[in-house]
Amino acid sequence: MVRPRHAPHYSAIVAAALRQEGHGVSIADHHLQTHSLAVIVDDVVRSAPDLVLVMHSDYNRELTAELLERLFGALRPVVPEGRLWCYGRLDEKTALSAMESAPSMPALLFGEPEFGAVELANRLQSGQDVAGLAGSVQRGEERPELIAQGPLNLDASPVPAWDLIDITDYGFSPHQQPSDVVYPVLASRGCPFPCFYCEVRSRPSWIGRSVDAVLAELNTLHQTYGTKSVFIADPTFGVQREWAMEFCRRLPQEGPPGLRWSCMSRTDRVDQEMLQAMSDAGCWNILFGIESLNPKALAAASKALDPKTVGPAIAAAKAAGLEVIASIMIGLPGDTPAGVDRTIEKLIEFDPDFAQFFVVQIGEHEVPDGGRLVSDWDGSRYDFWGHVFAPDAFEGKEQLLALRRSAYRRFYLRPRYIKGRVGKMVRSGEFGTQLRRAVQGGFLALRLAAGQRPSA
Ligand code: SF4
Repeated sequence: MVRPRHAPHYSAIVAAALRQEGHGVSIADHHLQTHSLAVIVDDVVRSAPDLVLVMHSDYNRELTAELLERLFGALRPVVPEGRLWCYGRLDEKTALSAMESAPSMPALLFGEPEFGAVELANRLQSGQDVAGLAGSVQRGEERPELIAQGPLNLDASPVPAWDLIDITDYGFSPHQQPSDVVYPVLASRGCPFPCFYCEVRSRPSWIGRSVDAVLAELNTLHQTYGTKSVFIADPTFGVQREWAMEFCRRLPQEGPPGLRWSCMSRTDRVDQEMLQAMSDAGCWNILFGIESLNPKALAAASKALDPKTVGPAIAAAKAAGLEVIASIMIGLPGDTPAGVDRTIEKLIEFDPDFAQFFVVQIGEHEVPDGGRLVSDWDGSRYDFWGHVFAPDAFEGKEQLLALRRSAYRRFYLRPRYIKGRVGKMVRSGEFGTQLRRAVQGGFLALRLAAGQRPSA
């Protein structure tokens, strides 16, 4: 089994919201613990809860229609009617299609699910009808009926109930994680961009939180768990530049002392001033979702990113003292093997600290023109869930994976790169920590260069 990199963030938020209302809650992360349906059903029967909420999608995790069907088919006979619901941070279209494609699923909470979950639990507890519940899709006489969620204040959402899971069970890759435990924090949800391959686009649109609310969460994490390190898990940090600048200005005075943080962004959403402000506020690492340096591939993937921003942004981030990770997709529509080759060549010239390479994985109803699916739905070999997509210019899955292996070899097994990293470790002042990280990261890069799974 592949060890999940991401803790069940939305599940922890939903649990905290329910607990805040006085409901007793537990989280069973079967994705981590077991893939056995019999064990899951047995757990539910043994604990006999008043309400069972099954996650449809969480950060980088999603259940297929087939899995949902099997899961609900097995759970319905053992859970009283009206007490079995699905939930996920889904937009209306995806929520409706999920209900249509999994007929055994009785009902679904969508949108920002913690709000619907609290209302649902309160109504069930007080014996009220659940008809008309905002942010839900329920079975009607003929077809599923959707009740819109309406405007929300995300600042009312609680700090995730991280005490209900063991956060150390989840591990980012070494290039994204310093030696200490890292807590994910959502300063906003969703992303305003429409990149075709990204799971974020089937989620509700971008919604922000106030700087006050995020600082309060950081302080609570520090006071409750002694948190020293967080990952701002927003798909794109800096969607609103003014927000980011205010956050960076206030964090050193009003946040936990010495907090270290990392984030993800786009090279066209940052500039030298902002990157320096981030570094001054404790940011140590930034992942840029670049995907390709081939303008045709970026355009065909609806990733409106000017490749000319990539080199300057990487240089500016490094000049500000940040570690830079470049994330690249191999096999975007419109790309070619030669285009991938040029992307890797240019990326090496830009010299980010680390790079990660993914093949494109999408759902079966999302296939764009100019390509086809070349694998089953699988997350055990390719890092994420979905079918592997191959553009017309590629022979198939094996060629994509060979290019991916080659990309890892070309990037990481350069004598100049290795020498540079050793020099940085020595100068870092925390040689032991950085050595441990480099050894773990080196093994991971070697595994990926050899075409093996990220983790056993
Ligand atoms: S900008 Fe990044 S997070 Fe946003 S849709 Fe594109 S790939 Fe996804």
